[in-house]
Amino acid sequence: MHIIHIASECAPFVKIGGLADVTYGLSRALANQEGISVEIILPYYKTIDTSSLASLTKDPLSTTDCTYWKSSFDNITLTLVEPLTNNFFQRDEIYGFEDDAQRFIYFCQKAFNYVKSQQKDAILHLHDWHTALVALLNQRADKPYPTLYTIHNLAYQGPCSNATLQSAGFTTQELSLLKEQDHYLLMKAGIEYCDRITTVSKTYAQEIITSEKGGNLQPLLFAHQDKIDGIVNGIDTEYWNRQTDPYLPKGFDKHAMQKKLGLEVSDVPLVCSVTRLVEQKGPLLILEAIKETLRLGGQYVLLAAVADPQITQRFLELKDEPNLFMQLTYSEELSHLAFAASDLLVMPSLFEPCGLTQLIAMRYGCLPLVHATGGLKETVAAGKNGFSFETPTKEALRACLHQAFAAYRDPQKWQGMLAEAVSEDHSWKKSVKKYLTLYKKNRNLNR
Ligand code: ADP
Repeated sequence: MHIIHIASECAPFVKIGGLADVTYGLSRALANQEGISVEIILPYYKTIDTSSLASLTKDPLSTTDCTYWKSSFDNITLTLVEPLTNNFFQRDEIYGFEDDAQRFIYFCQKAFNYVKSQQKDAILHLHDWHTALVALLNQRADKPYPTLYTIHNLAYQGPCSNATLQSAGFTTQELSLLKEQDHYLLMKAGIEYCDRITTVSKTYAQEIITSEKGGNLQPLLFAHQDKIDGIVNGIDTEYWNRQTDPYLPKGFDKHAMQKKLGLEVSDVPLVCSVTRLVEQKGPLLILEAIKETLRLGGQYVLLAAVADPQITQRFLELKDEPNLFMQLTYSEELSHLAFAASDLLVMPSLFEPCGLTQLIAMRYGCLPLVHATGGLKETVAAGKNGFSFETPTKEALRACLHQAFAAYRDPQKWQGMLAEAVSEDHSWKKSVKKYLTLYKKNRNLNR
């Protein structure tokens, strides 16, 4: 069975968040299974890091307006799509442009053309809005491929104008199911046209069909609930392994981190957040967690990629606090150091489809303190492997932080929780089996 992931991110080549970890970890777990071959198709971004790839060769299926570059890693074929007639992926960032819809529609078309020209049986696994339109293109084919669509985050739906879709060759009639008021949502193509849908935790799968949490797509998801499964994400336990992590100097610990960051070397609790500072991640609650940690005599490391200047300003007001280290960027290296050195990870997401950060933290011996929602609710058991609060308010967060600090002062309790968190199995082992079952079901669909 040949599985082709078509995605916009894959660690370690190009990563903004958990989607990249999933494309990488799930593909590696699949490639280890008997009788499975795996391919990943990504845009050839200017910023892509190809240093860990063996070589890049031009595929003979390349066309005059698009080159397909082939490489491989860990028994996985990697195909990079490079446009020759536009600058869609020649940018310093991978998302956040006015023409994002146009860029990823282009990618869907070129990726799907490439799949077709390979002329072999495959199962297409599409991820999030960026690649959802492949499902519509697939509908047009004489012999459509079996398809699976994973919703990593329902909040990003790929809004798109009629004009953009028309100029990409889609007809109004063809697009009727993607319509949302006066525009179109590319994510709808994945929901409407894929054979099966997964979301990244069971809880999130249940949440998105409720009127409270499903938002504007709830009626559509509710109508398709029979084809939705919740499969919790795993983490790649070889990549996220303290013992072999190339980012961690030998014997790296809390004191080494404090020295490195210029914090006072001390045994007080070291708390961290490693995040994208967007609304979903509860920036104001993170701000409160920092202030309360400092009031309680702890130290805080904030590693956060920020988009909104107003949010940045709120954090910068704290920049002279001696017990706070703040870096408002993305940094793979610092994230590994933070997980390895910190006692506590604060992750007060307002909603969280799965969340990988808390899983990585646990594996690195850093207990998560979370808002009990979505995948956080499913993976963090209060008092057992972490701490959680039910309502996303400053008061509830502060009370939870107090509980965590009290637990920290009780070494026996703390060590017991740490032992539980570190030993839990959050690898892809179980979830990869569930994906395989779905792929097989899909393959056997009568077409
Ligand atoms: P999301 O995908 O919504 O951002 P997840 O918790 O599922 O959230 O995954 C986030 C991934 O991105 C984790 O691997 C986390 O370590 C990483 N990450 C998030 N923010 C940063 C950052 N500022 N620097 C480095 N890594 C980050």
